[in-house]
Amino acid sequence: MADAPPPLPFDTGFSANTGSPVRVLEGVVRMTAANAGLYTFMGTNSFIIGGERVAVLDPGPDDAEHRAALLATIAGRPVEAIILTHTHKDHSAGVNALRKATGAPLWFAGPHRLSRPAHLFEVNALARDCDWGLMPDRAFFDGEGFVAGGVPLTAIATPGHCANHMSYGLDETGWLLTGDHIMGWNSTLVAVPDGSMADYLASLRKVIDLPYARYAPAHGGPITDGPTYARALLAHRELRNQQVIEAVAAGARTVDELLTRIYPTLPGKLRLAAALTLRAHIEYLAAQGAIGARRTLVGLRLSPV
Ligand SMILES: [Zn+2]
Repeated sequence: MADAPPPLPFDTGFSANTGSPVRVLEGVVRMTAANAGLYTFMGTNSFIIGGERVAVLDPGPDDAEHRAALLATIAGRPVEAIILTHTHKDHSAGVNALRKATGAPLWFAGPHRLSRPAHLFEVNALARDCDWGLMPDRAFFDGEGFVAGGVPLTAIATPGHCANHMSYGLDETGWLLTGDHIMGWNSTLVAVPDGSMADYLASLRKVIDLPYARYAPAHGGPITDGPTYARALLAHRELRNQQVIEAVAAGARTVDELLTRIYPTLPGKLRLAAALTLRAHIEYLAAQGAIGARRTLVGLRLSPV
């Protein structure tokens, strides 16, 4: 077996100040929603961007208190746009009520879609967490520059966590709003077919090469050396790939056997997320020809190549 991955520089001591505005940098205020949980850490971070006019990034869950806190901080300033990093409901469920309250248009990459067509009888474990019906008033393309709240931004496609995920560069400041692509407290969930490991690894490499030094994620606190952090995430995933190859070579034939070998001490409640991420690694490695993976009636059957 490969060694355990080196510890990642996760910040789990983040103090969210839930429900109160927190200045992240000039012209960007964070407001964390009260939806703390296993996958959301301290809750979803919404961002209010701008000065005399503003834009709201990721309104978060459909929660009246969170909305009231956002509106109190906006304090009657015109809202030019509601922007989404992606269409998982912990980011987007609050869109419609905020649209009603502000009259603002909705901008994001395009309706929720799978990262690849589903196989026959395949279940998207995240299906209920996706906002399938939400349509943008303006759909961004990768690399598109725009102005919101008087602030110049660039939309950067970062698929992987899900297919329509975008990060947003605050071009005059060197900050990148990373959504769930890169989070402050943990590596992101990649669950096929909603997400894709190949896309996720490519999107990590992509942001490492962009001129953004600091990241503000949708869950957890700011990341001060973004590219170094992203490189650590990439190394962690590459090591996990290696562990899967070695575990299969050593006899693991099912996802359950892989879980037991790679995460021997994982608490039960985290096993589902780990199994989902392992499936994403398996699919990636099988597509590369690094392992064999056959879909059978009782689940994936793995083999060395
Ligand atoms: Zn998400």
